[in-house]
This record gives sequence, structure tokens and C-alpha cells, in this order.
Amino acid sequence: MLNAQQILAKLVSFPVLGGHSNLSILQWITDYLDQYEVAYQTVPNEDGTKASLHARIGPAVDGGIILSGHMDVVPTEGQDWHTDPFQLTEKDAKLYGRGSCDMKAYLACALAVVPQMVKADLKRPIYLAFSYDEEIGCVAAPELIEAIKDYYEETPKYAIIGEPSMLQPVVGQKGICVYKTTVYGSAGHSSRIRNEVSAIHECARLVIWLEDYMNQLVANGHVDDRFTPNHTSLHSGIFKGGIAHNVIADECSFLWDVRNIPMDNIEDIQQAFEKHCEEILPELRKKFPETKIETSLYHPLVPALDTPEHLDIVPFIQKLSGVEALQTVAYAAEAGQFAEGGFQAVICGPGDIAQAHRANEFVSIEQMVKGVAFIERILAECCS
Ligand SMILES: [Zn+2]
Repeated sequence: MLNAQQILAKLVSFPVLGGHSNLSILQWITDYLDQYEVAYQTVPNEDGTKASLHARIGPAVDGGIILSGHMDVVPTEGQDWHTDPFQLTEKDAKLYGRGSCDMKAYLACALAVVPQMVKADLKRPIYLAFSYDEEIGCVAAPELIEAIKDYYEETPKYAIIGEPSMLQPVVGQKGICVYKTTVYGSAGHSSRIRNEVSAIHECARLVIWLEDYMNQLVANGHVDDRFTPNHTSLHSGIFKGGIAHNVIADECSFLWDVRNIPMDNIEDIQQAFEKHCEEILPELRKKFPETKIETSLYHPLVPALDTPEHLDIVPFIQKLSGVEALQTVAYAAEAGQFAEGGFQAVICGPGDIAQAHRANEFVSIEQMVKGVAFIERILAECCS
């Protein structure tokens, strides 16, 4: 029987990046589940190159607990790794490797307890729900959640998403949505700036409009002090256009993301932006009638998480984690999607998010031990 650290070493050895096929790691996990005769279902993508997995251990009764995690990791390119990122390396009671923390640690802890789960006298079921492509925008979770709701006649109640939180209960998460905006203007000699529509200049103004809009939200009291920063953020991270310093650009595009606090609605912000674009077009078209501004969804919306304190899962997770204080996180995770799917959802998993996505990512052995104990307490709860 493999312990959690040995399982983690196996999981880390599969360099499954978000956006790429995850069948290798999935095969290892399904082989592992086969050993313990755990029946599972896979939820493949269209061309069968990727799949999520769900499984139930225990009786088909309402009120079960979903243990949710993702199998993919972020790239290591350009990062100064001191060890092979895809070989789990122990040093000073820390386990180094890509995904060791985010979030194969949680998968390993859950899988390590499977042999106990199958032998236990479960009164409520435990579900495993492992997704792919989380790191490129929580892409697979919606289908996985729908598959779980379709497949099981009973209704699971809680979803515990094991993103690294140092096993602290997290009840709030910002949402995210990414857009691409392209301005089509008119090319010309740079001296003709009064006569042409420079796509670069118009894009620049739109980026600043977004920043002003963010500041306006704050000024209007749209703040939530549970988050850092305590407001919805609007930001452009990629800006592309132009062919030469002396040519007015006829095309320019930029990507922008919205990370919303639960009280703000991303679609409202998008609509306000599109309305502004509509308003500026007539003036631009006086110079160049074919001027266009197009905005499209670049990554689908991942909803915010805002689990209210009156839900049963709150005292439940406080008891399981032994931590009263409830936290929020600024990153987006699949928890908002599980909540939208009708499950009471929280984030709680081993490892520190500060280690995630960077060179020399690690999880401490102490967090692994605590992670296994956490899953064992979930098991004990489901037996009582
Ligand atoms: Zn993650």
C-alpha cells in the first residue's frame, strides 16, 4: 500500500500541464482505484485527449461529500528550478516538485485514504472529483459537475476543494473572466494622427477607461474587506498592435481580466464597457467610417465563491480543520463552480498558495501528514 508521499511522487512524475492531454496521470489514478475495486466514471473532452474523473465510495444516499481537485499543473519554463520539477525531491522536510502543492498534495492525501474508505462502514458517501485544465481557467469543472449531478441518483451535499490553504477553511473566492478587445482603425503615415484612427491610441484609452471604472467602483462603495485587494480588479496584461514607429496602427488588441468580489457582477462590468465602446464609435467613424471595436470572451467566467456562514458546511469545515477563522482568497478556483452547481462548497487543502506556480514549489511533509489526517476525519464523519 502506498502512503501519501509515495502517491504524490507518482502524481508529480506526470508533467500534465493545463491545456495538454492528462490521460497519463488519469491512467495511473484509475489503475490505483482498480486495485481497491472503486468504480469510477470518466468525463472526456470532445476528442478524447483529456478527461475528468468522478467516483463514489460508500452508499448511494444523499448528503455525501465531494473531494475535488485538479490533475493539471502550470508550466515550469523560465523558472529557476534547483531540482527536476517532475521528480518529487525531499529536502529539509519539504517535498519539491511542480504541483506538489497546487494541488497534487490534496489528490495524494485523498487517494492515500481510499484503502480505508473502501473498508469503512460509511453511512454517507465520499466522492472523488478530479478535473483537468483548471490552470487555464477552470475549464473542465462545469462538465464534471453536470456529470456528477446526472450520474448519481442521490445528491451529494458538500464539496471540499483542496486548493492549498494550509488546511484553513476558505469560504470566499473572487471570480474571474478574461476578455479580448480589438480595435480596427485606419493605417497611415504617423504625421496624419489627426486624420486617421490609431487603433493603439484607442486601445490605450480603453485600458485607462477600465482602470477608471475600477476606481469608480471603489468610490461607489463596492468594497469587501475580506479580500485583498478589497475590490474588483480590472487589468490588462497583454497589449499588441502596430508594425512600425511611423505607421499609424490599423489594428490593436488587448486582453483584460476582471477579478470580481462577490457583490459585483462581471457581466454588468462587461456591459458597461461595451456601452462605452458604442458611445465613442460615432466620433471615431467621422474620421474613419469602418472603425470597429470588438470584444469577445477569451476565457469563460469562473464565478466567485461566497459561502454564507449560516450553511451547515461552515461549522462542519471548522470542526474538521480545527480552525474557527474563515478565510477568503483572491485567486479563482473551482469552488465557485461547485457552489453554482448547488453544492455547499469550501476550499481547504494542504500546502501554502504562496508556493504555487513558482520555481521550487513545495509542500511540507507536515502539511502532507495533516492533509491525510484531515481526509481521515472526513471519513470518520461519514461513518458516524
Ligand atoms: Zn490549483
